[in-house]
Amino acid sequence: MCHEVIEGVFYRPCGHYVRLWMSDIRDCKSPTCQKSSAHASDCNKKTCMQDFGPDHEKVSRLSYEECPACVEKYVLRRKVKTSHQ
Ligand SMILES: [Zn+2]
Ligand SMILES: [Zn+2]
Ligand SMILES: [Zn+2]
Repeated sequence: MCHEVIEGVFYRPCGHYVRLWMSDIRDCKSPTCQKSSAHASDCNKKTCMQDFGPDHEKVSRLSYEECPACVEKYVLRRKVKTSHQ
């Protein structure tokens, strides 16, 4: 089963992973996998694997700040707090 390789950023403080783009395809070289280069293009057996397996998430950048979503949440929380004072 082939896998799509995803590049992304791992935000250490909050532990979130944010995908950036699909950078590569891991070819499993199996003749029974339709996504593989080893698979015959004229084969249309239903038994062959038709989909990509689970994405392979690669950390291409490590951030020591929280992810944008978490930063936003934090800002919103602060706004709510200050508006009640
Ligand atoms: Zn495959
Ligand atoms: Zn096939
Ligand atoms: Zn986060």
